[in-house]
Amino acid sequence: MRLSRYFLPLIKENPSEAQIVSHRLMLRAGMIRQEAAGIYSWLPLGFAVLKKIEQIIREEMNRAGAIELLMPTLQLADLWRESGRYDAYGPEMLRIRDRHERDLLYGPTNEEMITGIVRATIRSYKDLPKNLYHMQWKFRDEVRPRFGVMRGREFLMKDAYSFDLDEAGARASYNRMFVAYLNTFARMGLKAVPMRADTGPIGGDLSHEFIILADTGESQVFCHKDLIDMPAPGPDVDWNGNLQPLVDARTQLYAATDEKHEAARFEKEVPEGKRLSARGIEVGHIFYFGEKYSKPMRAVVSGPDGSERIIQSGSYGIGVSRLVAAIIEASHDENGIIWPESVAPFKVGLINLRPGDAKCDAMCEQLYNALRWPDGMSVLYDDTDERAGAKFAAMDLIGLPWQATVGPKGAEKGIVELKNRKSGAKREVPVQTAIRLLSFSVISTEIDEIEKNAGSRISGDEDIREIIREMKK
Ligand code: ATP
Ligand code: MG
Repeated sequence: MRLSRYFLPLIKENPSEAQIVSHRLMLRAGMIRQEAAGIYSWLPLGFAVLKKIEQIIREEMNRAGAIELLMPTLQLADLWRESGRYDAYGPEMLRIRDRHERDLLYGPTNEEMITGIVRATIRSYKDLPKNLYHMQWKFRDEVRPRFGVMRGREFLMKDAYSFDLDEAGARASYNRMFVAYLNTFARMGLKAVPMRADTGPIGGDLSHEFIILADTGESQVFCHKDLIDMPAPGPDVDWNGNLQPLVDARTQLYAATDEKHEAARFEKEVPEGKRLSARGIEVGHIFYFGEKYSKPMRAVVSGPDGSERIIQSGSYGIGVSRLVAAIIEASHDENGIIWPESVAPFKVGLINLRPGDAKCDAMCEQLYNALRWPDGMSVLYDDTDERAGAKFAAMDLIGLPWQATVGPKGAEKGIVELKNRKSGAKREVPVQTAIRLLSFSVISTEIDEIEKNAGSRISGDEDIREIIREMKK
């Protein structure tokens, strides 16, 4: 993508309405624009990140056996009257009336609708288990929408719903989501800690919020420090086997949100040096609720002995749009955003310091053409007439993982300057090396994954890998 043709409305001054760093940086980097309180347009750069996050979630959900569908944003009030939630939900629900005087609502969540779909289509225990999910915009008329997309009124959620014959099956479904969530957040470069959360009147231990530690977080949380750096299980688990040991390994140590916190137990179970009390951002919530919706809505199947059985359900949410902000909270510096490669809107920012100079132009075109990916979103080529300082500042602000700078002196000698945004490491390399290194890096996250699965290296390029490793330090 050529910057001269792209749409990237950067803001120089710090927007006064933004109280936290992610909101400030998203506005300054031209990622979002507020249309009304808690309602945003996603400008191209922000939208590109949102799509990357969506895709990671999709891949990990599918890997765990969940199946994607799409339900509408508007729902009939009558459906919600069946579960009793139409009246119970309160002023957070946006209620709408159509021209036929029919009551509708803009979905704040989809338990009723998915239960309606399942009850109309699934008749036998043989059709279970099922886990259905979608990614759809939600509306909640929050009392205090704030912090940009962190707490919006309209926001994008991934919500999955599991359906099982009995509680043992439901627990297995829950565990699959638990592990899938660990892998999902790890792929985004996040350390998300599962913490015991409120189950409401249902009770039990099957409710966890996935929390990212951040001073600006809205939740107060308490946990054992060792949980923070515990690695994710990775994709190679036996998805149809027993995942309980993996879940237990992460639920044995103390971790609870405010509502579930027990101070005495915290002090008894966690040695003083390991106690962490911090603020956190909730990026996901998984929840087993049994027959809460299937009972009043009569979602039943015939069991193995022919008797009628009420379906056991759980729901599993991820704040897709909130994650964009949460990742920035976890990864930025005083100059701007630092995107993890897996969610970066472009992998490489190519800076031409002297557009119009024949050698600079030729070298930039060579790099640009060599690195362009089919979707056109691997390289953002700054071909504008801005002065050098402004170009560097803009690239740092939007946080692409790699910068490649071409100036008249270097172009004369066939040299490009590479910079890793995260480490700040810089290195001058011949243009061919730059092409090899950056093209490798464009696909490096995928290569890492493939090699991990294969248990071996799949290609040479040792020298290139060494430079990448060095620069990322
Ligand atoms: P919160 O306590 O933050 O209001 P919640 O318990 O209401 O969250 P859920 O109903 O479990 O949230 O929704 C699933 C996920 O959707 C949450 O984990 C969060 O990441 C995200 N989410 C919830 N409300 C918002 C919002 N107003 N703006 C952005 N994301 C949200
Ligand atoms: Mg809420």
